[in-house]
Amino acid sequence: MTLVDERAPVAAKTMRALTLVSDRKLELLDIAPPAAPAAGEVQIAIRAIGLNHLDVWGWRGMAFAKRKLPLVVGVEGAGEIRAIGAGVTGFRVGDPVVAYGGLTCGVCKACREGRDNLCENVAGVMGFHVDGFARDLLNMQARFVVPIPAGISFRDAACAPIAFSTVQHMLFDNAKLEPGETILVQAGGSGIGTAAIKMAKAIGCTVITTVGDDAKAAKAKALGADHVINYRTDRFEGAVRKLTGKKGVDVVFEHVGPDTFNGSLLCLKRGGRLVTCGSTSGQSTTVNLFQLYLQQYRIIGSFGASMRNIRESLAKMASGLSPVIDTEVALADFERGLARLESRQDFGKIIVNF
Ligand SMILES: [Zn+2]
Repeated sequence: MTLVDERAPVAAKTMRALTLVSDRKLELLDIAPPAAPAAGEVQIAIRAIGLNHLDVWGWRGMAFAKRKLPLVVGVEGAGEIRAIGAGVTGFRVGDPVVAYGGLTCGVCKACREGRDNLCENVAGVMGFHVDGFARDLLNMQARFVVPIPAGISFRDAACAPIAFSTVQHMLFDNAKLEPGETILVQAGGSGIGTAAIKMAKAIGCTVITTVGDDAKAAKAKALGADHVINYRTDRFEGAVRKLTGKKGVDVVFEHVGPDTFNGSLLCLKRGGRLVTCGSTSGQSTTVNLFQLYLQQYRIIGSFGASMRNIRESLAKMASGLSPVIDTEVALADFERGLARLESRQDFGKIIVNF
């Protein structure tokens, strides 16, 4: 049996889907809406999409990515349950939800242990390899769907599946950040940078962050960062050594890549941890191996998050740790949002409203 929202208007013949048709070319198409959800699935009406650098990579085009165009874009989003397939429990029509966009197998050892992002048989990342969230309706297996606690807007919840969860996973599962430690957050004005500043401050860490202009410096201070370095006017490595009395920081939160990576290592204290989830300034760099082992650094790669991290992120939002929103744009302005993200003008998250 399929439950359908009786408040919904008569089913439309078509629905909107924002699709990537070639590199840097998006088209808003009218496509057939999905059939009623199959057993084990729910149907979600999308309300908001959060933009990420993964969207920018996908939009620019990536030669090595296995995917077929046209592709519905949108890697993270929030919406409400529109219909429920047979055998699904725990959801009601109208419930606000987010979904995990990594199509994990659910049966391998990593999946069984709740380490979803280490799944051995991922069928693709939605919005990048396979059709994503930027469409009016989609059917998803209920196991990927997480309820949004009361009091959180679709706009804020849309930042949970990737932006907030990635930061939660980096800081607490991987870098094992502890209260009282000192952390350097690179590019503190970015969507994940702003989340990292707020999450680290929330547990009582000292936060040093870098930004690219003075207006962003003031905003980062207002978020609670203890020290803000404008990396265009000041060498951040020297500034961090000075701020920490030449000791260095416990943890560096990296996602910039070659432009900052070696400087970030120099900022670590002996035995410090560098966790990285991105490389927006390029792909490769060189590392001084003497420095790596003599200083006993730990370098940790991090990609995505687990379902648990999504629940933890939503719980943080429910307790008042809300995402920093840079701008909200309409679906038709998705590309304008991507261009803003690519040019690093943003401070916080860019949200696309449906
Ligand atoms: Zn798996």
